[in-house]
Amino acid sequence: MASKMASCIFCKIIKGDIPCFKLYESDKTLAFLDINPLSRGHALVIPKFHGEKLADIPDDNLSEILPVVKKLVAATGATEYNILQNNGRGAHQEVDHVHFHMIPKPNAEEGLG
Ligand code: 5GP
Ligand code: ZN
Repeated sequence: MASKMASCIFCKIIKGDIPCFKLYESDKTLAFLDINPLSRGHALVIPKFHGEKLADIPDDNLSEILPVVKKLVAATGATEYNILQNNGRGAHQEVDHVHFHMIPKPNAEEGLG
């Protein structure tokens, strides 16, 4: 596990070794903008505990995730959005540190996205 953490890009972001646009941080959770957003405001919420898949994360480290997702929804004002969490290559997971996507849908009237 230690070697996987050392090479994990999201663990490096948590440590501050790689910069990110930070949206929220607590002792257990970090939220930041996706570097390759599918829409304006596309955010990632991650537990600071390193685990590859959802089942690897202790409940204590997961319990704050959805409340943080809710805060991001409120902050963006999104009324239509997808919450996405991929596990495994076959399920389109590219970064092997559990993360939840919050993807606002573009608002046609305001031209966002
Ligand atoms: P996955 O396909 O694993 O569910 O999504 C991984 C997400 O992480 C992608 O949307 C990708 O753009 C994002 N990502 C990958 N590397 C970085 C990075 O270094 N910084 C940030 N902010 N996002 C990243
Ligand atoms: Zn990690």
